[in-house]
Order: sequence, then structure tokens, then C-alpha cells
Amino acid sequence: MAATTKELTTALKPDWCPGCGDFAILNGLKAAVSEAGLEPHNTLVVSGIGCSSKLPHWIKCYGFHTLHGRSLPVAQGARMANHEMNIIVISGDGDGYGIGMGHLMHAMRRNMRMSVIVHNNQTYGLTTGQTSPTSDLGYKSKSTPMGNVEVPVNPMALGIVGGATFVARAFAGDVKHMKMVFARAFKHNGFALVDVYQPCVTFNKVNTYDFFREKTYKLEDEAHNPADRAAAMVRAMDHERLAIGVFYEEARPTYEGMHPALVAGPLVRHDISNVDLTKALEDFY
Ligand code: SF4
Repeated sequence: MAATTKELTTALKPDWCPGCGDFAILNGLKAAVSEAGLEPHNTLVVSGIGCSSKLPHWIKCYGFHTLHGRSLPVAQGARMANHEMNIIVISGDGDGYGIGMGHLMHAMRRNMRMSVIVHNNQTYGLTTGQTSPTSDLGYKSKSTPMGNVEVPVNPMALGIVGGATFVARAFAGDVKHMKMVFARAFKHNGFALVDVYQPCVTFNKVNTYDFFREKTYKLEDEAHNPADRAAAMVRAMDHERLAIGVFYEEARPTYEGMHPALVAGPLVRHDISNVDLTKALEDFY
């Protein structure tokens, strides 16, 4: 049975800095899990390392807080073992677009059904504010005191060309809209990448709530067609007006829908009563 947001709330309270965008994402996530009817006993939230990746501790369902950049290998392994389970991955821009980038590229083209939510605060918050893969050009931090000279990763463009079949962006300052985007991602049958503008109020004094309120607009307000890949790319490449909403969505067969070992049903339900593992386990005795 689906849970209410109250039932998804833990007794422990998050220890994020007051005002951090992570709070809004947690609230939006719980609301969307409830609205999409995801059952807690059948839902796994997997994260890497970073401020955002502490999130699985604060939502009542299964959780796995893994290693830096390694949420996707764990999430894909879980999905392969039981593809009836809903998989949500929580990552940050450093975790997902830095050390975890190689995993992301291959997970997208594989099109295994899962929703990957990236808290994109354009800085390394947990390690006290260094320049990250999505920091703007010119961004000054303790690791780039004279300004960042590296072109930032463009998550939406990456998702569109990388093979993700659902590519969207939300803003932590608009929980209602974010919940709608999350709920659509959960219903999508394939790999969903959702990047979220998440102000880090402690270390990023450039990409603030006010900055995004001024710069963002909703794709739904401009009659954008998510089936139009070229139009999605034009929106993704616009660095002046920042779109939020669903950029791109396509129906494509999933990995688990095509893999010969999985089409017969989840591996956890396969009959292994006549399989003898003794020999394989001998090495571990
Ligand atoms: Fe949030 Fe930044 Fe504080 Fe981390 S350091 S909890 S991202 S405000």
C-alpha cells in the first residue's frame, strides 16, 4: 500500500544547514513517492557521498548509503536482482557528475528503469565549498580563488545525448513543481535523470534562491514538446534563461525488458532449488 508523507517521515531529523535546498528536495521526494503510489516495502533509495547523499537516512523505505560516486553500480545491481522494486538514486553534482560520471553515462544508455535525482548545488558542500563539475565559469572558491576556468558540465544536454529516456530539471525553491517532475519520473518506464537546482546557502553565494527565481521558467508554460529531441537540446543549451520541467521523454525498451535472463521475471523469484552452489562456495570456506 502507498504511504502518506507522514508515514514516510523518520523520527530522526536531517542535519543539513538551515535553509539548505536539500530539505525541499526531501519534502518533494516524499510527496511524489506518496502521490505516485510507490510502496515503501518495495522502494529502495540509493545514494553516494555528499550532503545530499545523507537523504536515505530520512525517508522510511529501504535505503543504501554507498561510496562516493558508486550509487549507480549498486542501484543497477539491485534492479537486476529484483526489477519489481522501485529504485531511486540520490546524488550530488560532485558525486554524480564528477567521480560517478563514468557510471552515469553507461547507466543512461542501458535504460534500466530507475529515477536518478541529482542535487545540483554547483559546489562541494560537504567538504566546505570547493569548485565542482557544475560550478559556473569564473566561480570563486577556496579551490579556484581566481575564478573557475573549466566549462561546467551541462546535465540536460548530457542526458539527452547520453541515452536517458527521461530528462528533466526542477528547482528546490518550487516544491509543487518539483513534486510533479519527480512523480512523472517515477512513472516513466526507463532511465530518468532529474537534475535539481539546489541552493547551498552556506558556500555558494552566487547560485542562490533569488538567482534561480530570476533566471528560471517552466517548460510547460511555453508549450515545449518533450518528444522533440532537437527542441530539448536547444532548451538545454540556453544558459541565459534556465528551463525547469521535462526536457525530453521517449519510449524505448528497457534493459530488464530485453535481457534474456530477466524477461522471465525478477532473478529473486527464479527457482534455484535444484542449483548446487557448494562447488562455487568452496573458495570461501
Ligand atoms: Fe546544504 Fe550546503 Fe549546508 Fe551542505 S553545506 S547542508 S549543501 S547548505
